[in-house]
Amino acid sequence: MLNRCINALSSRDVKLEDIAECVKLLQGKYIEDLSDEDVMNNILAVLSKREVQYALLTAIELDMLCEEGKYHDKELEHDVLNDVGLYGIDEVLAYGICNIYGSIALTNFGYIDKIKPGIIGKLNDDHSLRCNTFLDDIVGAISASAASRLAHGK
Ligand code: MG
Repeated sequence: MLNRCINALSSRDVKLEDIAECVKLLQGKYIEDLSDEDVMNNILAVLSKREVQYALLTAIELDMLCEEGKYHDKELEHDVLNDVGLYGIDEVLAYGICNIYGSIALTNFGYIDKIKPGIIGKLNDDHSLRCNTFLDDIVGAISASAASRLAHGK
């Protein structure tokens, strides 16, 4: 299941290294000598939770069905594809991940969702052939959760 999730991310052009960059941005200033290995181990620990895995796979499925025009409700499809401001359910799905890792994950998620660094900004801006409405929030939530896990471990 972990490999299935890593492959699903990579099929959407998201590498674990991209997520690691976001985690370092969130937690680097609080942990001196934060190693790449520590960051990666915490990302993998988050990705190993079944609830996280299902949120991730569901998000990618909803994005792909949307970009392929396979929603039954075409008005909903239009709103998801255009990531309209009041949609918000993409973020709610991502909270499902943050909730496992507590308040630090939630505040980090809010922060990273505002500044949209690196891969999150790239996903958010990529409206060419893709729908990433759900995935950008999932990547943010995984980053925020890995940062929280690091914080609690120190
Ligand atoms: Mg979104």
